[in-house]
Amino acid sequence: MTFKNLLAPTSAWSGKLFSNGWRSTNAGVTDVIEKATGAKLGEVAVAAAQDVRAASTAAHEAQKSWAKIAAPKRGDVLREAARILTDHLDEIADQIVRETGSIRAKAQWESQVVAREIVEAANLCSLPQGVMTASVEAGRRSIARRVPLGVVGIITPWNSPFILGARAVFPALAMGNAVILKPDIQTPIIGGVVFARLLEDAGLPSGLFHALPGGADTGAAIVEDPLIDMISFTGSTKVGRQIGSIAGGLLKRVSLELGGNNPYIVLDDADIEAAASAGAWGAFFHQGQICLTAGRHLVHEKVADAYVEALVRKAKALVVGDPSDAKVQVGPIVNARQAANVERIVSDTLAQGGQLVAGGVRDGLFFAPTVITGVQPGMAAFDEEIFGPVAPITTFRTDDEAINLANDTEYGLVAAVVSPDLARAQRLADGIRSGVVHINDQTVLHGVYGPIGGVGDSGNGFAHSTLTNADQFSEWQWLTSRDEIAAYPF
Ligand code: NAD
Repeated sequence: MTFKNLLAPTSAWSGKLFSNGWRSTNAGVTDVIEKATGAKLGEVAVAAAQDVRAASTAAHEAQKSWAKIAAPKRGDVLREAARILTDHLDEIADQIVRETGSIRAKAQWESQVVAREIVEAANLCSLPQGVMTASVEAGRRSIARRVPLGVVGIITPWNSPFILGARAVFPALAMGNAVILKPDIQTPIIGGVVFARLLEDAGLPSGLFHALPGGADTGAAIVEDPLIDMISFTGSTKVGRQIGSIAGGLLKRVSLELGGNNPYIVLDDADIEAAASAGAWGAFFHQGQICLTAGRHLVHEKVADAYVEALVRKAKALVVGDPSDAKVQVGPIVNARQAANVERIVSDTLAQGGQLVAGGVRDGLFFAPTVITGVQPGMAAFDEEIFGPVAPITTFRTDDEAINLANDTEYGLVAAVVSPDLARAQRLADGIRSGVVHINDQTVLHGVYGPIGGVGDSGNGFAHSTLTNADQFSEWQWLTSRDEIAAYPF
């Protein structure tokens, strides 16, 4: 169905989910709320266990034909989806602002990144689909070829659902798989409906893509479904651990992209004004609700006063409010439970001896950008992933101490080091256990091409990027052939 706008009129999808077309379900509907105002944006159907089973059965069948289509033709469908998205970037950015509480700059960036993710996924379809390997025996043709996994179940969180869905949905389809996407129930339109609208308008054959909004029960049904061959999960470490354990028992491939508590290290030779600007972006962008957020600011004691002064100045100047207003730089926290958790971490840290030097004030879902000094290991703001606009500052004296502080966490998603002395910064980077390290930048970078994936409690080592997506969403099959059957001694 082609609409003038991607989402309007809403009559085709409102109150429905996408599974062999738009359908109602027995599990009822849920309202989709604008985070900043509490206004109703629309409604979608909630998927129950039987909807998951119906989707997996249809996807399992549809995938067989999709895998046989010449790979470049799969790429054509995806390129068409990218073209349609590019025609609707403003509409999508509006939806991101209202549904996720993102400021417009992030929403525009996110929709453009997704357009690029789709094109890069389409490009996988024109790469070699295998290689001729060496063979110990003359006359045996030995090929390693990529084959699809089958049906990929993708479970995403609410914080950046468009990018986090896109980085898995499109490469999975490109590699010949069918996809069942379960967005978080708080962001089911940008996390699910929009994908379905793009793909149906692009001409993706029926049954290959399903968008099933739902909560933990829906996600659990996807993880356990025997017709779903791989789980690609992005979300909290707690839930990732449960999913990993269930998928392990089922011998199902599982990619886990989990939480972070990311160190941002400022050395004593850094340009402090620039470091504070990058640190403010890393800490307060999207209200700190990004897995890559700079969660711990580790600052050399010689420059700590200057860094804190600059960061506090920036924190106090930020405009907090409804991100539909172009002046706003920090929007709402996603829900009251999450806002209360941020408040709890701040008050625990102050009770443990941290000093509040900016913010610390909550007004409903709006949390003032907060800076806390004197933070040490063992305090809540050092030990926990905050997922709010809070910059805890910890000082160090030596580079080794900075490395030890950076590694004093179970997480290992991203780290950043700021210094004009590249050799020194590189030595620190070499000592930090982390899936991603940036030198002379902050921690929140997503570039499509560089592999993003965590170690330790941040994930199980899969990474999303043009470099790694083909490996993640296909498996190698060894295929040999000889002109005649081989002779054996018995
Ligand atoms: P969450 O783990 O609570 O939920 C994520 C998704 O899992 C949602 O769709 C949810 O409905 C589903 N889910 C919940 N319980 C489930 C279960 N038992 N079985 C199957 N599915 C289940 O995470 P959240 O609070 O929504 O997201 C924030 C977390 O995600 C943070 O920890 C953040 O760091 C992390 N995150 C990681 C990355 C990354 O790339 N590493 C990116 C974004 C967010």
